[in-house]
Amino acid sequence: MPISRRDFLGAGAAAASSLLVRSPGAGDALAASLVRPGRVAPSRPVVIASANGIRGVLKAYDLITTQHADPLDAVIAGVNIQELDPDDQSVGLGGLPNEDGVVQLDASVMHGPTKRAGAVGALEDIATPSLVAKAVMDYTDHIFLVGAGARKFAIEMGFQPQNLLTEKSRQMWLRWKANLNPDDNWLDHSDDVHVDGLLHGPQGWTHGTINMNAVDGAGDLGSVTTTSGLSWKIPGRVGDSPIIGAGQYCDNTVGAAGSTGRGEANIKVCGAFLAVEQMRQGKDPEAALMTVMERVIAMTEKRLLDDRGRPRFDLSYYALTKDGRFAGAAAYEGSHYAVADASGARLMPSAYLFKASERPTGAMTGRLPSH
Ligand code: ASP
Repeated sequence: MPISRRDFLGAGAAAASSLLVRSPGAGDALAASLVRPGRVAPSRPVVIASANGIRGVLKAYDLITTQHADPLDAVIAGVNIQELDPDDQSVGLGGLPNEDGVVQLDASVMHGPTKRAGAVGALEDIATPSLVAKAVMDYTDHIFLVGAGARKFAIEMGFQPQNLLTEKSRQMWLRWKANLNPDDNWLDHSDDVHVDGLLHGPQGWTHGTINMNAVDGAGDLGSVTTTSGLSWKIPGRVGDSPIIGAGQYCDNTVGAAGSTGRGEANIKVCGAFLAVEQMRQGKDPEAALMTVMERVIAMTEKRLLDDRGRPRFDLSYYALTKDGRFAGAAAYEGSHYAVADASGARLMPSAYLFKASERPTGAMTGRLPSH
């Protein structure tokens, strides 16, 4: 049965109120640190990110507070931690490759004070696509470079090419290939293709991304999203992360927002832009993100919804206002996002549309990087 608008909003409101009293799956320590965005006086600076950015938000917050770093430089330094970590298989070095075994990275950045943006798509051999996106912003009159052109530009700008496919990711790619088709020339492996913390789609696909947004003490904003995208993707596939207005968006008069999860669902609603526009019209960050989630469901084709209209994928959003209010929201209960502010760095439970128990059984076609 399709879910009505009122059901959505009801689920969102229930989710929001539940955050006051319990912490989905995160234990008492986290519950004790819960803050209801919008009900406390906002403070600045604030850095928020997808949950896998928990180390990065602390780094970015420290850079802003101790070195007066620019908010965009700070969030890029924050996501560089994951990009350069070979054990993180969702971004940068060590990211899971495409169906040909080639790591192709996407990233975009936006700088509030100067109203500039930069992006790269399907970038090979450079571990820090976030910095290449910033170089596109800083040194060209363009916004978006892709593929071979993006790689050439990066090398000309002094980035060092390297093999991004780690042994662990190569092994996983080989296993995915071997298990893909029982009639091919590869012997099947009986062991499951598995990466800690990843959910797998029907073809063993995985997603992974980091989005980070900051507002500094003066109210200036910056945002970045970086990813290795959908694993085993068709070569050349570009997701939402490098698309300005989808993977992230920042308007220095309003706030910033970004997304992780099934990029194909986010692109269709220009989710980050829509979230900022909702905040511009006066919604608090959580209400803005719930409106975006509602739009995502409304724009989802039938094959990706269960018989009760619930999505067979995960998608998460993060939003931050110029005055320091923030929120995270996801399709399903159980997701978290990372925050650093004067109270320290911590994970917060995201608001959600549907309870975890309502999640369709069987494979999902999207995931959160780290719950
Ligand atoms: N949004 C990313 C993409 O679709 C992947 C993810 O966040 O999991 O490329």
